Amino acid sequence: MFFFNFVDRVVERMLYRLKTDFRLSIITMLGMSAILGITPFAVLRFMQGNSLAGIVDLSILACVTAGMSYSWLTGDTRRGGMFMAIMICSGAVVVGMIAGEPGLFWLYPCLVTTFFLTNPRLAIVLNAGAVVALLVQSGIYSSEVQKWTFVATSLVVSSCAFVFAHRNDEQRRRLEQMATVDPLTGVKNRRSMDEELQNAMVDAERTGASYSLVVLDLDHFKKINDNYGHSVGDDVLVDLAAVLEQHTRRADRLFRFGGEEFVLLLPGVDDVGQKRVLAHLQQIIRKYVRHPGGRVTASFGVAMLQHGESVESWLERADSALYQAKTGGRDRVVYAD
Ligand code: GH3
Ligand code: MG
Ligand code: MG
Repeated sequence: MFFFNFVDRVVERMLYRLKTDFRLSIITMLGMSAILGITPFAVLRFMQGNSLAGIVDLSILACVTAGMSYSWLTGDTRRGGMFMAIMICSGAVVVGMIAGEPGLFWLYPCLVTTFFLTNPRLAIVLNAGAVVALLVQSGIYSSEVQKWTFVATSLVVSSCAFVFAHRNDEQRRRLEQMATVDPLTGVKNRRSMDEELQNAMVDAERTGASYSLVVLDLDHFKKINDNYGHSVGDDVLVDLAAVLEQHTRRADRLFRFGGEEFVLLLPGVDDVGQKRVLAHLQQIIRKYVRHPGGRVTASFGVAMLQHGESVESWLERADSALYQAKTGGRDRVVYAD
């Protein structure tokens, strides 16, 4: 029973990673197709007595499997992808040199996938290098026409792959930005917050690191909107987000929870540390965040993540501390427990 639960969780986690990490999905797709596509050829080469080509095929398989395993185990798809791009291009060149003309066809899938495995600059260098390395092997080609046709088609395939990969990358980045960033203040939105709080909880469970959660709500914000207009209210929110980002550490995370409510995630702070941070934040908001009628104040609810606690309960404790700060008269910090 335990075993099946474990397998279930691993599969679920793997599917989640494939869905959210584009490069990992490309690495995996390429790795699996290479294993399925090259294995029969490797076997065939050995059966035909061409052990040199068989060994080359097996080496490519080993490299592809190593790159794929590395990416899955470390999550470092930048290096994993780079390694695989270099390996498949080198492999295609060696196959072309050994197998001659029929081996050239293996270069085309490589020319396309390099752009999805690594950055465009390296992909261009690798593609150009592979084409030139095969171009100088004059023994491969049956005619000059064939040789230059190979160069021209390689160029067309590479250019199309470059444009497609570039567009795809840009669109993915824009979508990611839209899905995770609050358009008014430029800080991360509630959706990113859910994900990062979940990560913090997993990290705390694994390493015992401490995390503090601050829920901050501006006092009488509705009055600012009512008295000076919605756009002045917007300006106050933008100023607040900028001031908070400027006066927190690099490792701290700021999110807009909704309306005039923000959340700060403070990793690695103890009781004394969080009190000092909160006193400082109260001070800088009073000093720097203003509206035409004067200064702005905020109420804070703070909760330290407890051992084995869920994200929901953590947020709930911080939120009820905020509620106490509001009912207690506003412009104050209340610590849960
Ligand atoms: P309290 O001290 O109890 O927090 O009072 P409050 O007036 O700040 O709280 P309330 O929740 O009653 O009002 C929040 C207001 O924030 C209401 C809503 O119109 C306004 N608001 C929400 N989002 C935005 C926004 O993006 N821009 C502006 N200008 N106002 C917003
Ligand atoms: Mg408010
Ligand atoms: Mg509110």
